Amino acid sequence: MQSPYFYNMEQIDRTWHKNFEKYAKMIVKHKNYKGLFVEYEGDKPKWVVTGKSINGRKRLQWWNNQCQKHGVTIQKGCYAIITRLIHPTKKHVCQCCGKELSIYYEYPNKNLLKKLTAYFNIKIEQTDYTIKDIINKFCNKQNDLNFIAKCFNLPDNLDKHSLINHIYEQYVDKMKSPLSPGVMSNCPDRFDGFHSDGLCCREKTDKGRHKSNMQTYVQDRRAYENWSDGDWNLANRLMGEFHKQPIMECPICGNTNKMTADHIGPISLGFCHSINFAPMCNSCNSSKNNRFTKKDVDTLKHLENKGKQVISWHSVYAWDYLKDKINNDEDAKNASYLMAKCHQNVLYVLSLIYKNTGKEFLVRYLHPEYSMYNYRFENLNLSDLSTLKIIKTPLDSKNKRKNKDRYIRISFESLEEFSAKNNRKNNFEINDDDKDLKNIIKQISKNNYTKADLLLKSLLKHISETIIKREW
Ligand SMILES: [Zn+2]
Ligand SMILES: [Zn+2]
Repeated sequence: MQSPYFYNMEQIDRTWHKNFEKYAKMIVKHKNYKGLFVEYEGDKPKWVVTGKSINGRKRLQWWNNQCQKHGVTIQKGCYAIITRLIHPTKKHVCQCCGKELSIYYEYPNKNLLKKLTAYFNIKIEQTDYTIKDIINKFCNKQNDLNFIAKCFNLPDNLDKHSLINHIYEQYVDKMKSPLSPGVMSNCPDRFDGFHSDGLCCREKTDKGRHKSNMQTYVQDRRAYENWSDGDWNLANRLMGEFHKQPIMECPICGNTNKMTADHIGPISLGFCHSINFAPMCNSCNSSKNNRFTKKDVDTLKHLENKGKQVISWHSVYAWDYLKDKINNDEDAKNASYLMAKCHQNVLYVLSLIYKNTGKEFLVRYLHPEYSMYNYRFENLNLSDLSTLKIIKTPLDSKNKRKNKDRYIRISFESLEEFSAKNNRKNNFEINDDDKDLKNIIKQISKNNYTKADLLLKSLLKHISETIIKREW
């Protein structure tokens, strides 16, 4: 049932440099990774899984257990710590060029590199030397040391040894800029929890088609699967822009990285696939795990007050019931859990209707009309989209139609998959004998779509309220 447009991250694994292959085989067999999920293709371990897939979740569970075992609190930035903590050699090999680099924040970031090359009048790349090597190799006089100290907001007149110590204590160990790691965390997608490409090759491959486009494909597919409201075409376009922007500090973990567009209201909880995005690095985005925080809830309520739609038609009941009861992050976590549960029930009801009546009635909840426009963006500031200028032009090209067809096809295919997958489970509020459901199906078969719509909404409201009243 996989569409040709669906590029799974597992399928876009590129050729491995022979050093990387050796590295991968060593790591997979190493005792430090015992029990971490991996499959083989011949003698080659499958290095990459999709973060949100079943296998990805298996890996994440393993990493969470490691955090617990090593006393690392599961919170923002924990995977950046645990992946480094258990790494056996502390050296990662680049999949692209085979270079071996420190996994620690020991390399100058771009800005610092610029200062260093100008000051010392040298031509070096970011990954040629660690900061320690640079100090040892290029600092000959106290003035040189003072210059480096200034770059790190450290006092003058430190000797070489204490300068290095200060930098390691205050910057390397704390994973702070102006330093960059030889490789960024990417947990749980990659087996060792690090990106396959090192700092040496990261940009080369980022600019290429594979990462940004593919990621957008995986994510917009998720929006269709969730029957999300919102201008999906505009949201996809803006999401694509996030990946194209230069690296920046992730507002969650503080690591410098490419940003992904995080839905402030997770689509798996029934929120819209719209441009209410916040920037977040890929690993924070994966570990956020379909939850919102108190701050996210406040932002969503604020957007609603300004007249923006944040929640999809089918999940408005759960959201309206819960949104004013959320007073802290713990409440937000519980509310996320309940909204996810309600949303699964929504998809179940839709899948039963689809099974019994086909597409004709349900298609009214989809929005193919959004495919008709093309978008350009001005004033794009990832951290503050309030100043974003969207330039919309009508367009009816072949590509647009392909987009639209894909949107509709995936929406329905996923309902089919949903009912197949949940066929024998009875963890839903209703079953296929439910009398309200049968009435809806009856109205649809009589072409009473308006009546069916009302009945469907009242059924979804009833289901959401039952779940929440019981479990909140
Ligand atoms: Zn490389
Ligand atoms: Zn992050």
